Amino acid sequence: MAQVSFIGLGAMGFALADTAAKFGREIVVWNRTSDKALPLAVGNVTVAATPAEAISASPMVVVCVSDYATTASLLATPECMAALKGRILIQLSSGSPTLSRSASDWAKRAGAAYLDGEIVAYPNQIGGDEFPLLLAGDKAAYDAAEPLLKEYTPQARYLGSDPAKSSALNLAALSGSLGMTIGIMNGAALCEAAGISLQELVRDLPTNTAYDAQALMGSLRKIENGGLDSSDAPIGVWVQIADLMIEFQQETGYRTDVSAFARQLFGRAVDLGLATNDVGSLLEMLRPNRP
Ligand code: NAP
Repeated sequence: MAQVSFIGLGAMGFALADTAAKFGREIVVWNRTSDKALPLAVGNVTVAATPAEAISASPMVVVCVSDYATTASLLATPECMAALKGRILIQLSSGSPTLSRSASDWAKRAGAAYLDGEIVAYPNQIGGDEFPLLLAGDKAAYDAAEPLLKEYTPQARYLGSDPAKSSALNLAALSGSLGMTIGIMNGAALCEAAGISLQELVRDLPTNTAYDAQALMGSLRKIENGGLDSSDAPIGVWVQIADLMIEFQQETGYRTDVSAFARQLFGRAVDLGLATNDVGSLLEMLRPNRP
């Protein structure tokens, strides 16, 4: 029997299988487009003819395909469900909490121990860089898979038995990336409106984002530990800044969507009397049933 089987050899699935093979593991791979397995098909790598054959070949199965619907279409079949009995199934496709729980349910029905994972990295980082690899679900399955996962990154970690936690934390991290992306692009628009080279923005980006990260870590700590009632850059200051952006964008004909969205969110907090609070108090505005 091989050590681990891989289903899906797209950019990410290939990196996962290739790294495992380079660490000397006996692996079995399957991909819809079988040509993608050819660069791997040497020495300790076997190519399976079907997903069920790949599952049967190893005690541990890693699936990384486009989405959870694809995983279900491939694996939640009578043949694969039968093959999954007693196996560890690790899903590393990107999902949502609801999708994670649903996948966990059918995997359990098949008699598999299910782990739901999220890779917070690009394929070329697998096995080379440190990055978060978030796992949740069956603890015994995590313990068995940990040596493989730590080969991918020393930062592989287990978040608990609720399989939704890895996808939820991944979405939380991506929310930060999304906010930074639209914020920086809004900044690029402001530079362009003022005739400033984007190289000037690039030059200050590492310093500014490092400072913001420090400040935001402080805000997150205050949410849990107290202290939100004071800040050296309180919510009211950010409202003024958003107003200045909107004014300049209106003068220059640039779109105000991003600045206006921030103004609206921070402004609601001011309306609730939180002008002198830390930005961590914005979480108040996002909870259920808030005005
Ligand atoms: P990709 O290069 O587009 O590969 C998609 C994989 O899914 C291929 O193996 C593809 O098979 C397979 N697939 C799609 N539809 C299928 C179907 N109907 N039946 C059978 N197989 C099917 O994507 P990727 O970059 O490897 O991403 C895979 C997962 O990792 C995604 O959920 C993605 O969100 C996640 N992820 C990716 C990155 C990244 O930077 N790439 C980072 C973190 C997480 P074929 O080869 O036959 O098309």
